[in-house]
Amino acid sequence: MAAHILNGTEIGQQIRDELRQQIQELKQAGVTPGLAAVLVGDNPASQIYVRNKIRACEDLGLYSERLTPPATITTDDLLAVVGELNRRPQIDAILVQLPLPRQVDTRRVLLAVDPAKDVDGFHPMNVGALVANRPGLRPCTPAGVMELLARSGIEIKGRRAVVIGRSDIVGKPLALLLLHQHATVTICHSRTQDLPAVARTADLLLAAMGRAAFVTPDFVQPGATVIDVGINRINDPATAEQLFAGYPQRLEEFRRKGSALVGDVHPDVAEVAGALTPVPGGVGPLTIAMLMVNTVQATRQRRGQPAPAHPSKLAAVR
Ligand code: NAD
Repeated sequence: MAAHILNGTEIGQQIRDELRQQIQELKQAGVTPGLAAVLVGDNPASQIYVRNKIRACEDLGLYSERLTPPATITTDDLLAVVGELNRRPQIDAILVQLPLPRQVDTRRVLLAVDPAKDVDGFHPMNVGALVANRPGLRPCTPAGVMELLARSGIEIKGRRAVVIGRSDIVGKPLALLLLHQHATVTICHSRTQDLPAVARTADLLLAAMGRAAFVTPDFVQPGATVIDVGINRINDPATAEQLFAGYPQRLEEFRRKGSALVGDVHPDVAEVAGALTPVPGGVGPLTIAMLMVNTVQATRQRRGQPAPAHPSKLAAVR
């Protein structure tokens, strides 16, 4: 039986529609949330990510600006850029797009962002709040996964969750969020032994490793929910033919474009899993939606605005 496909595009849209209403209420109170995105250098993927984030702001009627220091910037000069944004009252949200050039000390830069404006949730203050399960700004992709699970009616409490990947941005915070929702959580990584056997213990399997189609059907307990966080671009026709053997439409699309986006989960997992997020159209759209949620949350807290008159379902996972 084929897995139920969890539609992240639809859920992302629901969240944005709920936010639109909340932003309207804030604007009526004379408050326009403002986001500043710092894009250092000319990394093409980062340019696309930042463009999409700015577009999302514009679509929702938020104030946004993009700062584009050169790739040669020093740590001190970038700290000065962040310091200036910290001081500006109309900026509620600051994101520094990663990765930063080699000569820049990324940790110092992330530490310099005012925790109240840290909508990526990377500042140690917000990381500490997450660990202690206290209110704070949560990293967008893991928060998006939780939102997707909640809105898809997938039970977390008491279930066995296996997270593959332990990065500070995805794997680790995701594991903590699942733990706070009472899952029994295992974190796997590149040194885990017999990964397929550990993965097969999962009721909820979450892959965030950045390895195209690595999670094959033998990793999956029949009926498990599989969340694919990975985003990998493949360009090799032989790989595409192998991955998309049973998916003529995807193969056709690959041939037309010369590349395709695939997750960490092999398409054949759809034959074993109970529910599955697609790539694209799964977790991806949730990340930007949650950035917008965090921006509104940061605005409300910084400017002493009351809780929304029309609370969204988001409260369920905050
Ligand atoms: P990362 O490279 O920082 O971390 C990868 C993790 O996977 C590491 O902890 C590593 O130990 C683990 N890993 C790598 N190879 C492994 C293996 N063979 N077996 C077991 N574990 C292994 O990556 P990241 O920033 O956490 O991102 C992970 C993936 O998620 C990437 O594909 C990235 O593009 C994607 N991502 C998607 C979104 C989104 O919006 N959907 C957001 C962020 C990241």
